[in-house]
Formats: sequence, structure tokens, C-alpha cells
Amino acid sequence: MKSKFLIFRYSVIPGLVLLLAVVFGFYSCNPGEKSPESKPKYIFLFIGDGMGFGNVSIAEAYLSIQDEKTGFKRLTFTGFPVHGDCTTDCADNLITDSGAAGSAIACGEKASFGTISYYPHLDNPPLSIAKIAKQNGFKVGIITTVGINHATPAAFYASNKNRRDYYNIGLQLYESGFDFFGGGGFLKPNDKNNDKKSLYEITQENDFVITNSFDNWKTLVKDKKGIYFTNPVLLDEADMPYAIDRKKLGGFSLAEIVEKAIDFLYNEKGFFIMIEGGKIDWAAHENDPATLALEVIDFDLAIKKALEFYQKYPDQTLIIVTSDHDTGGISIGNYEKEYQTNLSLLLNYKHSLKYFSGVLDNYKENATDYSIKEVLKLADENFYSPLPNFTKNDMIELKSAFDYYFFARTNLTEEELRIKYDEYNPVAVAISKVIIRNIGLNFTTWNHLADKVPVYAIGKGSENFGGAIDNTEIKPKILKLFGW
Ligand SMILES: [Zn+2]
Repeated sequence: MKSKFLIFRYSVIPGLVLLLAVVFGFYSCNPGEKSPESKPKYIFLFIGDGMGFGNVSIAEAYLSIQDEKTGFKRLTFTGFPVHGDCTTDCADNLITDSGAAGSAIACGEKASFGTISYYPHLDNPPLSIAKIAKQNGFKVGIITTVGINHATPAAFYASNKNRRDYYNIGLQLYESGFDFFGGGGFLKPNDKNNDKKSLYEITQENDFVITNSFDNWKTLVKDKKGIYFTNPVLLDEADMPYAIDRKKLGGFSLAEIVEKAIDFLYNEKGFFIMIEGGKIDWAAHENDPATLALEVIDFDLAIKKALEFYQKYPDQTLIIVTSDHDTGGISIGNYEKEYQTNLSLLLNYKHSLKYFSGVLDNYKENATDYSIKEVLKLADENFYSPLPNFTKNDMIELKSAFDYYFFARTNLTEEELRIKYDEYNPVAVAISKVIIRNIGLNFTTWNHLADKVPVYAIGKGSENFGGAIDNTEIKPKILKLFGW
């Protein structure tokens, strides 16, 4: 018995010693100073603007009905192994705006509503994670589907008290010294008084190559200058067309731009890329469900490009996907339809509500007289086909919107008009509401929500982003990972 026990002891001790050596060896180095091989080199931070859980759900439902199935088909990013949720309230309001939320994510400090990484009240105003990455020798890329000086991208390279000070925010683009900007153009590129050079001109004078074509890409990559790639098709707010309208309007997808950014930014030292799906938010603001679903799906295709990169460099890559806040408050299910939905009707959408609104604007400008019959014909051709049956009440609502839009006739107060149509085309909204109700969906606001948003992660250090976090924790978690 004794000898047997001894044999057992002797065989177990070397193993135990080895285990302890491994455990202590791992923890004995300074926790802030990870050994080089434990740090990721390549970080992708994807921000789906306005992408709450409901907006992810409608995208997965859309993928499913495309396969003629009921249920939810996984997006690439919802299949990531790490899931968490994130609070988004800002310094002075429970419901945040994109400026304050982007600032909190970028700088790790709560910011006031409407500001861009602006912390004059702090002794040591924090730098954005992108600026810190740059200081540490990383290449940095900032990509968005909306204006490059819009709130979310701006939070990573600029600081301003007012998110709408687009000119002065835009000036900070080249000053950041970042390597790649891509997607949307400059919003309001000219100074208020129009007496200064345009943002495009100034940026170009400061050694940035501005291009909207990939034709000479190889030469540009070889030269390794700073590149600002603007989508060849930009709409009136310097934004890229919605995915649902791209076939008609043209331009590149977010995925194509991300692919080129990776190609340009790849280097031995490392990179940090922030990619915003900016128009997920806009489609949610507009309560436009298929446009919304397809924006999330398009965003997912861009994430797929990062995932392909991760698969090449799994030990060196970290991908984080989150949102700055929820928008629109979509629900799958509504009062009228009770437990019934008919999501396959989402496939009947031809264009975004925004696109259809443009068609109505044209009609208003060019026709000599207006009719509801013609409006419904335009809706069928440019928005959704076949249209559902309109009840008597739906027709009364449409007539009211029609009178207001075409003839500025209304009995409604300004506040009632805002609640009913917000800033959107009243006729398009009146028709849209009938369609949405018929599908079995509902939206609860034209604006943002205070609800938590999801976080998904994969790759080196991704386990740090699971569970319940606040948006100010993302930056310090990345810093800790790098020992920065
Ligand atoms: Zn936002």
C-alpha cells in the first residue's frame, strides 16, 4: 500500500510543479504589460449606429425569409463566441445622441449630449483609442457610410463642443495624422461664411490623397500616403446610398471599402480600424424596416471581411461589434396582428422610404395637378409592391398627409405633425405605416432609445468584452489588452 502511494505521489508531483510553474509564470509578469505574443495586433471596432437588439433581430428574420423560412438566420457577427450588453446613457441624459455615445466609446468617459470627445472640465482630457493606437505606432483607419465628419467617426479623430460644427470637425481629419479614411464625404465642406477653402481642398493640400476610385489602387498602396476614399456615389448628406437602393443608385458597399482599407493598412506593427454602419440608424429613425434589415446585413458583410482577416491571423486579431445606442424601437409583433406576423412581405420593398420620398418630391415639383391615385401608383413602382389593402381609415390618413404635403393644408398642430411624420415625407410615412402594420411590425419612436445595446467579439482578448458592460469600458479594456 505504502509503495503504491509513493508511486502515485511521485508521478503527480512533477505534473503539479509544471502546472504551478505555468500558472505563476503567466501571472508573474506585470498584468498591465502583456507579453508580446498575448497582445492582438489588429483591432476592428465595428459600430452599428442605432443597432439595438430589435434591429439585429429584424435583419436575422429578413435573412430567414430570403430562404423562405420562418425564424432567424444568424448573421456573421451574432455567431461570434463572446456576447455582451452595453449601457449607453450619456453624461447629462438617459437617452444619448451619437456624439456623446461615440465619445464615450472612443475616449472612455461619459460626454454631454451633442458633443464630440470634448472634455474641457477634465484636467487630463482623454485621447480617443484611435489616437492612442496611432501614438503607439499603429496605422489607423476610420470608415463610415455617412459623412466622415458626422458624429461617430468624428469622435475618434476630433474634439468639438458641438457635433454640428462640421467644418471645424472636418479640419481635424488631416490633423489627426490617421492613415485611411473611407466611405462618406465631408458634410458641409464649406465654411459658414464661404470665405475659406473647402475641406476637400485643405485635406488634399495636407498630403491626403482623396480618391473615389480603386483603379490606381496599387500605386496608392505602394506610395503609402494618407488616403481618403470617398464613395463615388454620395447623397445630399454626403452619405452612401442605402444597400436597398444601391443597385439603382450605384457606388461601393461598405464591405468593399473595408477590404481595401485592410489592404492599405496591413503592416507588421498593427492597425486599428473603426467601421461605422451609420445608416442603420437613419433607416431606424425613418421607421423603414426592410431598409433597416438590409443595412444591418450589409454591415454584417463588412464584418465578414474582418472575419476573413481574423481567420488568417487568429492569434493577432480582435474584432468587436457593438452599437452606440438603439434607434426606432422596432418590435416584431404589434397591437393589430396580435400573435400573427407576415415577415415574408418585407421582400415586397423595392426601395427605401427616403428614395420614395425623392420620387414624391419630383412629382410635386413637376406635375401640374396631384392625385392620390397617382401617389399610390408611384408607391407601387418605387417603394413597395403590391401595396396592401387600405382601410377607410387608412385612406383618411393618407388624404390628410396628401393635403398637408401637396397643399400645406392641415388641422394638426405642429406638435401633432411632428409626432405623426417627424421630419419625413408625410405621404411616404402615411403609406409606410399601413405597410408596417400589415406585416405585423411596430416602431415606437422616430428617435433613439435608452435601451441596452449588444456587444459581440471574437479573437485575441475577446473574452474581455462579454457580460454586462458600459460604453465607457470599451476603451480601457482595449488599453489593458495592449498595456497602453
Ligand atoms: Zn448614433
